[in-house]
Amino acid sequence: MKLQLNDIRNWLELSNQLMQENRSYLIELDQAIGDSDHGINMARGFQEVITKTQDQNYQSPSDLLKDVAMTLMSKVGGAAGPLYGTAFLKLSMAWKDKNEIQVNDIKEGLQAGLDGIKQRGKATTGEKTMIDVWDPVVQLFKDDENVAPSTIEETAKRAMNDTKELKATKGRASYFKEKSIGHIDPGSASSYYIFSALATSIKG
Ligand code: ADP
Ligand code: MG
Ligand code: MG
Repeated sequence: MKLQLNDIRNWLELSNQLMQENRSYLIELDQAIGDSDHGINMARGFQEVITKTQDQNYQSPSDLLKDVAMTLMSKVGGAAGPLYGTAFLKLSMAWKDKNEIQVNDIKEGLQAGLDGIKQRGKATTGEKTMIDVWDPVVQLFKDDENVAPSTIEETAKRAMNDTKELKATKGRASYFKEKSIGHIDPGSASSYYIFSALATSIKG
């Protein structure tokens, strides 16, 4: 299992496709426990990522991911922009000067991304945010570096669905208090798409 520059481009393309396809669904999720813009934010942000990066020649995955981070920070509004921006910036930093990202690098990069999200959002596991998808995926790599791509996809999906039962204590959804229970967290769904796209790109 490894990733090269073109695999990472593929990851971003697939992530963008999933954000466009599920734009309405993400809006719906955010309608229930937020301000209805998550689908708009993510679809716009990932489209901008593709527009910005597609014709550029990057020396390394790290250079590409730095541009991704900057684009997400500046083009995705709301809470999610700075959080995803931070995650991709941490990936870029973790993979600096590496042309081939090995499984151990994936583990360390995702861990750094998760830590970055936690720090930036001052949040932790169990608060009904995207962290509740990132955390179990990082744990998979810690348990066994040679995790199958299908396991990454399944774990992220299950974790997304499990946010339904949680009560939100961070972000806009926390205003809904007990009423946030029973709804999937929108950021957990977009994170699921990102990991689903990653799983496909690792496979291919
Ligand atoms: P906003 O809430 O500002 O409208 P979005 O709707 O784009 O921004 O993103 C909301 C998502 O961001 C939530 O579903 C949640 O997953 C994530 N989120 C919000 N606040 C935090 C936080 N403090 N830490 C981690 N993730 C958060
Ligand atoms: Mg929102
Ligand atoms: Mg908003």
